[in-house]
Amino acid sequence: MSMYPFPPAPIATVPIAGGAQRFPVHRIYCIGRNYAEHAKEMGSAPEKGTPVFFMKPADAVVCDGRDPRFPPGTGNLHHEVELVVALGSGGADIALADALGHVYGYAVGVDLTRRDLQAAAKARGNPWDTAKGFDDSAPLAAIVPAQGRHPQAEVLTLSVNGVERQAASVADLLWPVAEIIHELSRLYTLCAGDLIFTGTPAGVGPLRRGDVVECRLQGWSDLRFAMV
Ligand code: MN
Repeated sequence: MSMYPFPPAPIATVPIAGGAQRFPVHRIYCIGRNYAEHAKEMGSAPEKGTPVFFMKPADAVVCDGRDPRFPPGTGNLHHEVELVVALGSGGADIALADALGHVYGYAVGVDLTRRDLQAAAKARGNPWDTAKGFDDSAPLAAIVPAQGRHPQAEVLTLSVNGVERQAASVADLLWPVAEIIHELSRLYTLCAGDLIFTGTPAGVGPLRRGDVVECRLQGWSDLRFAMV
Protein backbone atom coordinates (compact mmCIF):
# COMPACT_ATOMS: atom_id res chain seq x y z
CA MET A 1 0.00 0.00 0.00
CA SER A 2 1.35 3.41 -0.97
CA MET A 3 1.96 6.00 1.73
CA TYR A 4 -0.32 8.35 -0.25
CA PRO A 5 -4.01 7.84 -1.05
CA PHE A 6 -3.24 9.06 -4.60
CA PRO A 7 -0.02 9.82 -6.48
CA PRO A 8 1.58 13.14 -5.41
CA ALA A 9 1.66 15.88 -8.06
CA PRO A 10 4.94 15.97 -9.97
CA ILE A 11 7.34 18.76 -9.04
CA ALA A 12 7.52 21.65 -11.49
CA THR A 13 10.79 21.85 -13.40
CA VAL A 14 12.26 24.21 -16.00
CA PRO A 15 14.86 23.29 -18.64
CA ILE A 16 18.41 24.52 -18.14
CA ALA A 17 19.98 25.91 -21.32
CA GLY A 18 22.93 24.03 -22.72
CA GLY A 19 22.36 20.66 -21.11
CA ALA A 20 19.94 17.92 -20.16
CA GLN A 21 19.51 18.94 -16.51
CA ARG A 22 16.36 20.59 -15.27
CA PHE A 23 15.84 23.26 -12.61
CA PRO A 24 13.45 22.01 -9.88
CA VAL A 25 11.13 24.86 -8.85
CA HIS A 26 10.57 25.40 -5.13
CA ARG A 27 8.66 28.72 -4.98
CA ILE A 28 7.94 31.62 -7.31
CA TYR A 29 8.36 35.05 -5.74
CA CYS A 30 7.45 38.23 -7.61
CA ILE A 31 7.96 41.93 -7.00
CA GLY A 32 5.59 44.59 -8.29
CA ARG A 33 6.08 48.25 -9.30
CA ASN A 34 9.80 47.83 -9.89
CA TYR A 35 10.22 50.17 -12.88
CA ALA A 36 9.26 53.83 -12.44
CA GLU A 37 7.57 54.12 -15.86
CA HIS A 38 5.43 51.05 -15.17
CA ALA A 39 4.48 52.32 -11.70
CA LYS A 40 3.33 55.54 -13.39
CA GLU A 41 1.25 53.75 -16.04
CA MET A 42 -0.46 51.82 -13.22
CA GLY A 43 -1.25 55.05 -11.37
CA SER A 44 1.30 54.54 -8.57
CA ALA A 45 4.07 56.85 -7.46
CA PRO A 46 7.26 56.19 -9.49
CA GLU A 47 9.42 55.80 -6.41
CA LYS A 48 11.19 52.94 -4.69
CA GLY A 49 9.11 52.90 -1.51
CA THR A 50 8.59 49.52 0.17
CA PRO A 51 8.96 46.45 -2.07
CA VAL A 52 5.62 44.90 -3.10
CA PHE A 53 6.02 41.11 -3.01
CA PHE A 54 3.56 38.44 -4.06
CA MET A 55 3.80 34.78 -5.12
CA LYS A 56 2.69 32.35 -7.77
CA PRO A 57 2.40 28.59 -7.24
CA ALA A 58 5.44 26.63 -8.48
CA ASP A 59 3.33 24.75 -11.02
CA ALA A 60 2.29 28.02 -12.70
CA VAL A 61 5.45 27.72 -14.85
CA VAL A 62 4.93 27.03 -18.55
CA CYS A 63 8.05 25.99 -20.47
CA ASP A 64 9.47 23.52 -23.01
CA GLY A 65 7.63 25.21 -25.87
CA ARG A 66 4.22 24.61 -24.32
CA ASP A 67 1.66 27.37 -24.88
CA PRO A 68 -0.17 28.86 -21.88
CA ARG A 69 -3.90 28.27 -21.67
CA PHE A 70 -5.91 31.50 -21.65
CA PRO A 71 -7.26 31.70 -18.09
CA PRO A 72 -10.96 31.77 -17.23
CA GLY A 73 -12.47 34.58 -15.21
CA THR A 74 -10.89 37.58 -16.92
CA GLY A 75 -11.75 40.03 -19.66
CA ASN A 76 -8.36 41.74 -19.48
CA LEU A 77 -5.35 39.39 -19.41
CA HIS A 78 -2.09 41.39 -19.50
CA HIS A 79 1.51 40.55 -20.43
CA GLU A 80 4.38 41.64 -18.15
CA VAL A 81 7.83 40.72 -19.46
CA GLU A 82 10.36 40.26 -16.65
CA LEU A 83 13.92 39.30 -15.82
CA VAL A 84 13.62 36.08 -13.82
CA VAL A 85 16.25 35.07 -11.27
CA ALA A 86 16.79 31.39 -10.41
CA LEU A 87 18.41 30.66 -7.04
CA GLY A 88 20.98 27.89 -6.59
CA SER A 89 21.13 28.30 -2.81
CA GLY A 90 19.26 30.25 -0.19
CA GLY A 91 19.01 31.27 3.43
CA ALA A 92 17.48 33.87 5.72
CA ASP A 93 18.80 37.38 6.30
CA ILE A 94 21.13 37.23 3.30
CA ALA A 95 23.55 40.18 3.34
CA LEU A 96 23.38 42.47 0.32
CA ALA A 97 27.02 41.74 -0.50
CA ASP A 98 26.33 37.98 -0.55
CA ALA A 99 23.05 38.09 -2.48
CA LEU A 100 24.31 37.55 -6.05
CA GLY A 101 26.32 34.55 -4.86
CA HIS A 102 23.00 32.69 -4.43
CA VAL A 103 21.99 33.14 -8.08
CA TYR A 104 22.06 30.01 -10.23
CA GLY A 105 20.94 31.67 -13.44
CA TYR A 106 18.61 33.94 -15.32
CA ALA A 107 15.82 33.70 -17.89
CA VAL A 108 13.18 35.86 -19.48
CA GLY A 109 9.63 35.20 -18.32
CA VAL A 110 6.16 36.69 -18.36
CA ASP A 111 4.07 37.50 -15.30
CA LEU A 112 0.63 36.95 -16.84
CA THR A 113 -1.90 39.06 -14.95
CA ARG A 114 -5.69 39.20 -14.79
CA ARG A 115 -5.58 43.01 -14.76
CA ASP A 116 -9.32 43.39 -14.15
CA LEU A 117 -9.20 41.19 -11.04
CA GLN A 118 -6.06 42.99 -9.86
CA ALA A 119 -7.74 46.39 -10.22
CA ALA A 120 -10.76 45.15 -8.26
CA ALA A 121 -8.52 43.69 -5.55
CA LYS A 122 -6.55 46.94 -5.27
CA ALA A 123 -9.77 48.96 -5.02
CA ARG A 124 -11.07 46.77 -2.19
CA GLY A 125 -7.74 46.23 -0.42
CA ASN A 126 -7.99 42.50 -1.18
CA PRO A 127 -5.09 40.12 -1.95
CA TRP A 128 -3.82 39.72 -5.52
CA ASP A 129 -3.81 35.92 -5.66
CA THR A 130 -6.52 35.41 -8.26
CA ALA A 131 -4.98 38.17 -10.40
CA LYS A 132 -1.49 36.69 -10.35
CA GLY A 133 -1.30 33.08 -9.18
CA PHE A 134 -3.45 31.17 -11.68
CA ASP A 135 -2.69 28.11 -13.85
CA ASP A 136 -0.08 28.79 -16.58
CA SER A 137 0.53 32.33 -15.27
CA ALA A 138 4.33 32.07 -15.50
CA PRO A 139 5.62 31.33 -19.04
CA LEU A 140 9.39 30.98 -18.73
CA ALA A 141 12.38 30.37 -21.00
CA ALA A 142 15.13 27.86 -20.23
CA ILE A 143 17.33 29.02 -17.37
CA VAL A 144 20.79 30.20 -18.40
CA PRO A 145 23.46 29.45 -15.77
CA ALA A 146 24.98 32.72 -14.59
CA GLN A 147 28.53 31.37 -14.21
CA GLY A 148 29.59 34.59 -12.50
CA ARG A 149 27.87 36.93 -14.97
CA HIS A 150 24.88 39.08 -14.05
CA PRO A 151 22.64 41.23 -16.26
CA GLN A 152 23.65 44.88 -15.90
CA ALA A 153 21.97 47.03 -18.55
CA GLU A 154 20.59 44.39 -20.91
CA VAL A 155 17.40 45.30 -22.72
CA LEU A 156 14.22 43.39 -21.94
CA THR A 157 11.67 43.33 -24.78
CA LEU A 158 8.25 41.87 -25.53
CA SER A 159 6.33 41.91 -28.77
CA VAL A 160 2.83 40.71 -29.60
CA ASN A 161 2.18 39.47 -33.16
CA GLY A 162 5.44 41.13 -34.23
CA VAL A 163 4.69 44.55 -32.72
CA GLU A 164 6.97 45.66 -29.89
CA ARG A 165 5.04 46.58 -26.74
CA GLN A 166 7.67 46.61 -23.98
CA ALA A 167 11.37 47.56 -24.08
CA ALA A 168 13.54 48.71 -21.18
CA SER A 169 16.95 48.23 -19.67
CA VAL A 170 17.25 46.10 -16.54
CA ALA A 171 19.47 48.93 -15.27
CA ASP A 172 16.17 50.73 -14.61
CA LEU A 173 15.08 48.25 -11.89
CA LEU A 174 14.16 50.32 -8.81
CA TRP A 175 15.07 47.30 -6.64
CA PRO A 176 18.02 45.57 -8.36
CA VAL A 177 18.43 41.79 -8.13
CA ALA A 178 20.79 41.82 -5.13
CA GLU A 179 18.47 44.11 -3.16
CA ILE A 180 15.43 41.95 -3.99
CA ILE A 181 17.19 38.81 -2.70
CA HIS A 182 18.31 40.67 0.43
CA GLU A 183 14.81 42.05 1.13
CA LEU A 184 12.99 38.76 0.36
CA SER A 185 15.36 36.86 2.66
CA ARG A 186 14.30 39.09 5.56
CA LEU A 187 10.71 37.85 5.06
CA TYR A 188 11.19 34.25 3.86
CA THR A 189 13.87 31.59 4.09
CA LEU A 190 14.97 31.42 0.48
CA CYS A 191 15.85 28.03 -1.03
CA ALA A 192 17.68 26.56 -3.98
CA GLY A 193 14.97 26.21 -6.62
CA ASP A 194 13.27 29.52 -5.91
CA LEU A 195 12.44 31.75 -8.87
CA ILE A 196 12.08 35.51 -8.58
CA PHE A 197 10.15 37.56 -11.15
CA THR A 198 11.75 40.99 -10.82
CA GLY A 199 8.99 43.25 -12.15
CA THR A 200 7.93 44.59 -15.52
CA PRO A 201 8.74 47.80 -17.39
CA ALA A 202 6.13 50.05 -18.99
CA GLY A 203 4.02 48.99 -21.95
CA VAL A 204 1.88 46.25 -20.38
CA GLY A 205 -1.26 45.48 -22.33
CA PRO A 206 -3.95 42.95 -23.19
CA LEU A 207 -3.51 39.52 -24.77
CA ARG A 208 -6.11 37.58 -26.70
CA ARG A 209 -6.37 33.91 -27.63
CA GLY A 210 -4.08 33.25 -30.60
CA ASP A 211 -1.70 36.13 -29.89
CA VAL A 212 1.96 35.22 -30.43
CA VAL A 213 4.24 36.64 -27.74
CA GLU A 214 8.00 36.97 -28.24
CA CYS A 215 10.30 38.07 -25.41
CA ARG A 216 14.02 38.62 -25.10
CA LEU A 217 16.53 39.34 -22.39
CA GLN A 218 19.25 40.71 -24.64
CA GLY A 219 22.23 38.38 -24.92
CA TRP A 220 20.75 35.85 -22.50
CA SER A 221 17.36 34.38 -23.15
CA ASP A 222 14.47 34.21 -25.65
CA LEU A 223 10.91 33.02 -25.21
CA ARG A 224 8.11 32.57 -27.74
CA PHE A 225 4.59 31.31 -27.04
CA ALA A 226 1.02 31.65 -28.23
CA MET A 227 -2.02 32.12 -25.98
CA VAL A 228 -4.27 29.11 -26.54
MN1 MN B 1 4.93 41.62 -12.67
